[in-house]
Amino acid sequence: MRYHHLPRDQPLGRHANRFGAAGAPHDAFPHRSHGRGGADHPRPHDLLLRHPDGHLGDAPRLHERVMHIRNTRPILVADFWGDGPLTGGCLSGGRKYIHINNKGDVEPCIFAHFATDNIKEKSLIECLSSDFFKDLRNMAPFGKNLLLPCPLIDHPGVMKKAVERNGAYPTHDGALTMLNEMQPELHVYAKQVREALTPVWQETTWAHKWLESDPDYNKRLKRGADADVLAEEAGPAAADKVGARD
Ligand code: SF4
Repeated sequence: MRYHHLPRDQPLGRHANRFGAAGAPHDAFPHRSHGRGGADHPRPHDLLLRHPDGHLGDAPRLHERVMHIRNTRPILVADFWGDGPLTGGCLSGGRKYIHINNKGDVEPCIFAHFATDNIKEKSLIECLSSDFFKDLRNMAPFGKNLLLPCPLIDHPGVMKKAVERNGAYPTHDGALTMLNEMQPELHVYAKQVREALTPVWQETTWAHKWLESDPDYNKRLKRGADADVLAEEAGPAAADKVGARD
């Protein structure tokens, strides 16, 4: 992406730094190495450290700070989730990015602790071509509002669906809590954030213009709903048609 192609006053970081991050993405979370065992992983609980109302209340100040840095410093300031429109949504599952942990498990994202393949047993292209990753790529972007790009927290049913129907295994103890015990909390959180950011998205006209030429986003517009409310979207049958894109 080229920021100098964007209007200098466009609201890139305005509302979406929902976890208080105004720097690199991983600043959004307490940093942990990915060693063996749950304590060394970013846990699902870390995603809920702040209530939506709390961090959305900081949005104007965060926006002001992000814009100040972007307009005055020769550095790229990333805005976790808030830059979703610039990337066409979530990058995970090999759409633009994957994470391989220290055991070799090939995960869709550093925060998505599930895998169907291990890099010690398969080639990278085979891992990228897994039904699990193809399913995620085929559902992406998971919603029309790209200020809500994440299949873990904005669309919690999406990762659950992809994991369960493709037989992905948890890559550490406790990972499944995100798909089971935490689902009710996540859905409440997602609903609150959606309500807060829907009007913001409607006002974010630069993003709509920016996304006009994005084929994945146009695919989502044609589908007419978000992936988490299209119960049978993607799945094995659809995944067969997708292949490894990009
Ligand atoms: S799964 Fe969530 S945190 Fe990971 S790349 Fe996608 S939007 Fe970002």
